[in-house]
Amino acid sequence: MGNITRAAVLKAIAEYDELGRAGFLAKYGFGEAKSYVLVHDGRHYDSKAIAGVAHQWTQDRPLRAGEFSGGLGAAVKWLTELDFLVEDLAGEAATWGLVCNPELFDIDQLRRDGKDLQLWKVTRFKSEIAPGDRFILWRSGKGGGVMAYGRITGNLRYVTQAGGYWLKEPGPADYVPLVVDEWVDPIIPRDELKKDTRVSSTSLIQQPWAGLPHRLTDDTWTAVMDAVSVADARLGATDTGRRDAPEKAATTVQRVVRSSGVVRLVKEWHAHRCQICELRIELPGGTYYSEGAHIHALGAPYNGPDVTSNVLCLCPNCHIMFDNGVIVLDDELTIIRHDHAVGSLRTDKRHTIDRDYVRSHRERWQR
Ligand SMILES: [Zn+2]
Repeated sequence: MGNITRAAVLKAIAEYDELGRAGFLAKYGFGEAKSYVLVHDGRHYDSKAIAGVAHQWTQDRPLRAGEFSGGLGAAVKWLTELDFLVEDLAGEAATWGLVCNPELFDIDQLRRDGKDLQLWKVTRFKSEIAPGDRFILWRSGKGGGVMAYGRITGNLRYVTQAGGYWLKEPGPADYVPLVVDEWVDPIIPRDELKKDTRVSSTSLIQQPWAGLPHRLTDDTWTAVMDAVSVADARLGATDTGRRDAPEKAATTVQRVVRSSGVVRLVKEWHAHRCQICELRIELPGGTYYSEGAHIHALGAPYNGPDVTSNVLCLCPNCHIMFDNGVIVLDDELTIIRHDHAVGSLRTDKRHTIDRDYVRSHRERWQR
């Protein structure tokens, strides 16, 4: 394993470009990259999938997602040894394990009610936990394991009465605001994760009582995200709605590239409702479909950044109209269709939209 060549990787990249992200991942049974992306010619690729597929050009078959790690031990190591650039999606951010005891906090009822998890109690590492950090939500007790992952969105706040879904009022405490990027359904069981020494060695397993949160090492984080990717791939094409719904095969360069974390966050903020027409597409099973549209296009020659201030949550129709300049926005975020103002873009206080990108998009079509 790991015996891949630069030429094989380039061949896999070419096939990824041809099939589009969703097509490529589906063909080879990989989930979206959770921790690392391969950057090539300014585009982003799911590093693990590329490394696995590159195997078929030097070995006799592609590797499957469950056969190797997407992290520093395998895929990232192989790619960087071949002088490819691999970016860590978590960057410099710290990673944490938050523990939810369902006997104290009714997480199942919160989910049944379709509510967002917004705050979590913190008793230590208070000066270290910071906006942009990533977390996993760990369910304790019987049937426990990883139930969600996401990111910290703000600074600690002191809350005197938590209320809500707490079954027993926890009393005044510090809480950290957060957003769940994805609920992992079904849960990834503790017993399965414990087989991996990168997970079994963590304080989350060894000393669950030590306090909240638990600091995770990069290795533990990667191991957990690998497990999520494998679970994603297993569910794969049969259950497109539960995970971030796949995009159509890319038809133009700017739709090839995306970072699932950024797009997920924007979709989550808008609860999959189109910011232009308000359509929200419900799929069987009570999940929703929406698309993340980059305002200033990604990829050459535009090179817009993959950040939330450059992404809109749109339905497929509005996405196509927006990408082709049928719809543009003015600096007040008025929706302009065929030179007529037809409404205002719906916004959300968590979602800042950078007017420079709005202007770049508009100027590209109004020449
Ligand atoms: Zn729409």
